[in-house]
Amino acid sequence: MTTTPSSLIEQAAVACAGARKGVALTGAGISVESGIPPFRGKGGLWEKIDPMKYAHVAAFESNPAEVWEVLFIGMSDVLGKASPNAAHKGLRQLEDSGVLQTVITQNVDGLHQQAGSSDVIEFHGTHAFLRCSACSRRVDAKAVPLDHLPPKCRCGGVLRPDVVLFGEMIDPNLLQRSQLLSAGCDVMLVIGTSGTVEPAASLPLIAKHSGAFIIEINPEPTPLTDRISDVTLLGPAGEIMDEMVDRVKKLKV
Ligand code: NAD
Ligand code: ZN
Repeated sequence: MTTTPSSLIEQAAVACAGARKGVALTGAGISVESGIPPFRGKGGLWEKIDPMKYAHVAAFESNPAEVWEVLFIGMSDVLGKASPNAAHKGLRQLEDSGVLQTVITQNVDGLHQQAGSSDVIEFHGTHAFLRCSACSRRVDAKAVPLDHLPPKCRCGGVLRPDVVLFGEMIDPNLLQRSQLLSAGCDVMLVIGTSGTVEPAASLPLIAKHSGAFIIEINPEPTPLTDRISDVTLLGPAGEIMDEMVDRVKKLKV
């Protein structure tokens, strides 16, 4: 059990039960209980290498084979074994209950779609597809053999996961849609994100300034906790969401 007081979970549940245009903003933390370690903080996979260094576009451009070996293959292995946890499933249930409209995720693991969420904005792209760095052709990652690294496109260009690396721009259309949704939501659930990677980190501010109620779920306080969040539920996302969604369902009947 978490140490989050039951009254705080109830407060969050009441806010959710009254919402119709909820938006969730999720980060690597929501997938930790699915076995995918985050880059920041404790996580076996990344304690030996610095993913922030290898996940930079400059590293990929100067040595794509090394970035494939060190980062992308490791990520693919971990992501391939993961399945949605109670937090991903809880967001799907909030959608089914008419509370949640859209999930904006910084994750590249596809677990929200696997859990059945129907409107998922993948801010940082997805590992499910590879993209050619020369001609931009997209291919299903499962269809590309990885015996020779880096894998190549039929045009000869280097293939890479269709993700946004550090030092790269977010798709402006996705960013604009996310900002509009944040400005129009009544509740925002901020789950498992450190609130430090821009521009995703600004979305809770936009929501707050537009009058939304902000619920944060994270085992650690973040820069949002005291300034922006109306309720912070300190604990693992799956455990907290399980309890909160249960309460929302009871309040909705
Ligand atoms: P981040 O900055 O959002 O930090 C992760 C957050 O998760 C931290 O605040 C941490 O306290 C919190 N957390 C840890 N365990 C948790 C739990 N059980 N429940 C809820 N929250 C928990 O993200 P990052 O790890 O620094 O990654 C940076 C970027 O790298 C991501 O935005 C993403 O694009 C990519 N990435 C994706 C995945 C994925 O797809 N699952 C995993 C790692 C990194
Ligand atoms: Zn190509």
